[in-house]
Amino acid sequence: MKTYQHFIAGEYVDPIGGKWIDSMDPYRGEVWARIPQGCARDVDRAVAVASLALREGPWATMSPSSRGKLMMKLADLIAANAQRLAEVEVRDNGKLLSEMLGQVNYNPEWWRYFGGLADKIQGAVVPIDKPNHFAFTRHEPVGVVAALTAWNSPLLFIAWKCAAALAAGCTVVVKPSEFASASTLEFAALTKEAGFPDGVFNVVTGYGQEAGSALVDHPGVAKITFTGSDSTGAKIYAQAARTLKRVSLELGGKSPNIVFEDCDLGAAASGAISGIFAATGQTCIAGSRLLVQNSIREEFSKRVAELGRSARKGDPMLADTNIGPVTTAPQYRKILDYMEIAKAEGARCILGGGAASDMPGGQFVEPTIFVDVRPDMRIAREEVFGPVLSIIGFDTEEEAVRLANDTIYGLAAGVWTKDMNRALRMTAALKAGTVWVNTYRAISYMMPFGGMKHSGIGRESGMEAIHEYLETKSVWISTAEGSPANPFVMR
Ligand code: NAD
Repeated sequence: MKTYQHFIAGEYVDPIGGKWIDSMDPYRGEVWARIPQGCARDVDRAVAVASLALREGPWATMSPSSRGKLMMKLADLIAANAQRLAEVEVRDNGKLLSEMLGQVNYNPEWWRYFGGLADKIQGAVVPIDKPNHFAFTRHEPVGVVAALTAWNSPLLFIAWKCAAALAAGCTVVVKPSEFASASTLEFAALTKEAGFPDGVFNVVTGYGQEAGSALVDHPGVAKITFTGSDSTGAKIYAQAARTLKRVSLELGGKSPNIVFEDCDLGAAASGAISGIFAATGQTCIAGSRLLVQNSIREEFSKRVAELGRSARKGDPMLADTNIGPVTTAPQYRKILDYMEIAKAEGARCILGGGAASDMPGGQFVEPTIFVDVRPDMRIAREEVFGPVLSIIGFDTEEEAVRLANDTIYGLAAGVWTKDMNRALRMTAALKAGTVWVNTYRAISYMMPFGGMKHSGIGRESGMEAIHEYLETKSVWISTAEGSPANPFVMR
């Protein structure tokens, strides 16, 4: 069994409180590692070194181009270690190796993209209206960034948050999920190997209520970037307001995947499946509400159920496994509860509907599909974060838009149609941060990602993500000689 340590100031160190948390392998149902249970004192230590690295030392004076080069080097190291890192993630969160390896192999692109952006962060000379003034803006790093991440894709979230933050010149303290911290701690060593100065990238592990909350309160932290549930996000937002921190939130979803009768039904069926059963449904962008035009609803539901039935449950490390275990025990119970709630509310189950008790580890659920779902049912409104699909019928495009937007969330939406005029109308009408047409679950380092409404605040990836980690300073220089005529009025 491996015992991990925090990563602070370029060194692995024991937790000050001397406590550890067991990390479970969800497939085998056994403890496979221990991670430090960080407390407020560990957080103090990490924020102190991150603040110091921001103020003085090599990072503070490093040119943006040199920062970018370090990030390129880190990208190469991630690529060279991809298999090992992906296997650690699978051990920790039980997601499929094929999915995690795909993510880790793609991960270097964020570091290369934002590494390339590091020396293109430019202020502007403003052709100011006031006479005898020269005015320009500067973009400066916001300060120490605390990155709080969820358990489903730990290294992907680090790339989304930290590549942009480090390109901006910030320093970071990461607090990964207590359910899956190992890959983040393994990754930390690569930042040292790449040559990042001590204190620039730090990791403190532990519980959200303890280590996470201490970071949110810490006066030395300027910005919180969070990925997790909307209930925790709201708590953090309120708590961060006490010290007026900047906050970005990537939260949950109840994303509609909308199938019109004129679409390529085969492509739509496989899009519906990858929308909900990929990653065992444990993805924020899960297309958990399948809205199907009533003219094809019955036939299409059968088709999706057939495809879903072919999913192979098994060891997530094996290439032919389609469905792995649920990552955490509380999440497993929550998914089973939702299946019961759906049945009690009158939804009809056409696939799965319970635990997969023939599997090892005690945390497998059956891929599940409910039909006859009404939009007011809890199964149609609340995020399950598991492989549970609700199918809802609609007649017209207007009704599809109304149903799709009838949610507190606004993370993503899918539209399946061959009519491009309709597709374009839908992309404008849907209240979601991402809209996919005839595809689902595509992401890129180039494309802004984030949520509307309860799905979040701010954007990650793409050019605009860099501004989440920058402050704009306005500089005014008088070119006039002598003093103003009247010093008691505004210039
Ligand atoms: P969570 O909200 O339980 O935890 C997320 C992180 O916050 C963890 O590191 C946790 O330790 C920490 N935390 C918990 N309470 C805290 C507190 N009071 N103060 C500070 N930190 C605290 O979420 P989770 O269960 O790990 O992840 C699943 C959720 O994440 C789902 O709702 C999912 O939709 C969402 N998610 C969103 C995105 C996105 O990009 N929008 C991506 C993946 C997951």
